[in-house]
Amino acid sequence: MFDCVGSQILRSFCVVGAGFSGAIIARHLAERGHKVTVVDERPHLGGNCHTERDAETGVMVHKYGPHIFHTADKRAWDYVQRFGKFQPYVNRVKAISKDRVYTLPVNLLTINQFFGTTMGPKEARAFIENKADRSIQAPRSFEEQALSMIGPELYKAFFYGYTRKQWGLEPTELPASILKRLPLRFNYDDNYFNHPYQGMPEEGYTSIVQNILAVDGIDIRLGCSFESLEEKYDHVFYTGPIDRYFQFRLGRLGYRTLDFERFVDEGDHQGTAVINYCDETVPFTRISEHKHFAPWEQEKFSKTVCFREYSRLAGEGDVPYYPIRLVNEKKMLDSYIALAKSESGVSFMGRLGTYRYLDMDVTITEALAACDQIDALLQSDDNSLPSFFVDPA
Ligand code: FAD
Ligand code: UDP
Repeated sequence: MFDCVGSQILRSFCVVGAGFSGAIIARHLAERGHKVTVVDERPHLGGNCHTERDAETGVMVHKYGPHIFHTADKRAWDYVQRFGKFQPYVNRVKAISKDRVYTLPVNLLTINQFFGTTMGPKEARAFIENKADRSIQAPRSFEEQALSMIGPELYKAFFYGYTRKQWGLEPTELPASILKRLPLRFNYDDNYFNHPYQGMPEEGYTSIVQNILAVDGIDIRLGCSFESLEEKYDHVFYTGPIDRYFQFRLGRLGYRTLDFERFVDEGDHQGTAVINYCDETVPFTRISEHKHFAPWEQEKFSKTVCFREYSRLAGEGDVPYYPIRLVNEKKMLDSYIALAKSESGVSFMGRLGTYRYLDMDVTITEALAACDQIDALLQSDDNSLPSFFVDPA
């Protein structure tokens, strides 16, 4: 039997995953009076955006890799502001290639330092256009995208080795879309992102997620897997890996995972938050020094904690980070999507539920759009909720 408030039928929902996707859905449902259980098998909230104080140094650490909030979506920006204070933060990445330090994304300083020139914007644009391979009209691979955008020298110095380390594949095998997310600038702007809103939560991301979930009617169970639940729910919002929901019966979708090698130093280790190591002779991809993600408090800490980041193919039991989404995975994904669409009582959401690389802001935008749809659907005659709120194909 369902309870009612006014004309609305109240239901019981299970939300699997306490990252941004799950937290936003859970809050929305609870605010409308529904009974919501949130489960996450990890011992903390925040999903992959989880932040915690490093016990030895006191520095706020991004446990699953550096997370910088950036967006062009005012709704997503306004939403997160409600749950914690954001400090201004602009991501400025340095890159080491053949023992020299440059700035990324490729900008006028990178170009002038790399080629030993003093060009202005117009000259540099013409210079790079001359290096770019103009025979490539519609780049299909990462390599074609790079050669047609920046030419062979910058590609080899900054992208070839790093990408092979990051993806374990030749750049000829990777889609052009991976590189398209990086800007190329003919001025001295070294802001890694083009988005107008950018910042870092003063108390970390986990505090934001905790505040999103701080409403009556949500039962949070940490250290609890969905598979271990015995209760039945009217509907499940599943933000875990889609292949896992179906016990991997069609095979395992490919992911890259990361290994973080922690080390501590006195004071300031590298003078900035992130340095990429572009040469293949260096086994890791980057070093992040987390006190620099919180410049407003870094003077408080005498020590500093850093992480060398190594990328490899995810095996069973590894944390899935980057979906690979090449031809084989796309085929398997299509089969899982078909399976999901034939299943009732569950909606797949978020980066793992839809097997896509999603930045936090896109995750939030999609979750808020799903909330709009949920309201409309639950008030309609056919009040069944869809398997997907976005097309994951
Ligand atoms: P998640 O955060 O992954 O949450 C899913 C949760 O579900 C997890 O906590 C998991 O434990 C839980 N779960 C899964 N299966 C089960 C189960 N069966 N039972 C119980 N619990 C389960 N975005 C940015 O905007 N800026 C950045 O700088 C940025 N940096 C990134 C760096 C890295 C290395 C990576 C990999 C991603 C980065 N992102 C960044 C993306 C960001 O991490 C995602 O947008 C965000 O985590 C997606 O949230 P989510 O809720 O969909 O998934
Ligand atoms: N990349 C690179 N060298 C760098 C930075 C990025 O080759 O110094 C490539 C790499 O393949 C990466 C892609 O560009 O996956 C997109 O960069 P982004 O910073 O978005 O990387 P990600 O979010 O994947 O860490």
